[in-house]
Amino acid sequence: MRALVTALLGLALGIAVVTGQQASAPVGYDDTPMQPNGRWRIHDAKRPQPPIVTPGAMTPAPAPKDATVLLGAGADRSAWQMMDGAAVTWPMADGVLSTGKGMIHTRAEFTDYQLHVEFATPKEVKGNSQERGNSGVFLNGKFEIQVLDSYQNITYPDGQASAMYGQYPPMVNASRPPGEWQAYDIVFTSPRFKAGGTLDTPAIVSVLNNGIVVHNATAFWGPTAHKKIDPYTPDNAKGPIALQDHGNPVRYRNIWIRPLKGYDQ
Ligand code: MG
Repeated sequence: MRALVTALLGLALGIAVVTGQQASAPVGYDDTPMQPNGRWRIHDAKRPQPPIVTPGAMTPAPAPKDATVLLGAGADRSAWQMMDGAAVTWPMADGVLSTGKGMIHTRAEFTDYQLHVEFATPKEVKGNSQERGNSGVFLNGKFEIQVLDSYQNITYPDGQASAMYGQYPPMVNASRPPGEWQAYDIVFTSPRFKAGGTLDTPAIVSVLNNGIVVHNATAFWGPTAHKKIDPYTPDNAKGPIALQDHGNPVRYRNIWIRPLKGYDQ
């Protein structure tokens, strides 16, 4: 009997290990280029994990009167399109948009702006590292603020939720548990280019995750890429807001934007 129990236990453990291996995504890389500051590799697993800060209660953030509503009530997805310009195929009901096949982006383009986004990763946890609740908010269609389930989910710090993907981790991990609604409040300044197309000033972003500052006027080294950082090109000077399909189900709601004109306008 004991032998049978031991055999069954071993079989169960064996299945668990195999299942674990199949579901296991890498938590970082040691063969990627160094970042421009020479301190860490892109997606460096050895970079310190940001300290965890438990956010306060989620408070409603209805669109201010001067905002452009990108995702509001009902099933209205008219502010968005697929990358080829076709109508959005991601399902939407009762003000909640669920990720579907292919990336989507706004029809309108923006330059400098305040952006509010609410999202939720699945309550049922599946996968690990980058394969758990992965999506993303792309500023100017090029600069990603990562969406991920980073609640008790170790991944490379520059790829966790609210990271400037591949460049900077959030200063703290303010993630809520899976299934709960979370918010990004983003202030973005587009890069400027000199006549002739060379970079004048880089893209700059400040981000609050669930009301907590995670980036404070930090410059992007260039457009977002995986395992590298792309060079700036003059077409980065403006662009749409894009949402990423990374093959994981993620929900979005209440997205609004306020273009910033600066002082004395
Ligand atoms: Mg992503």
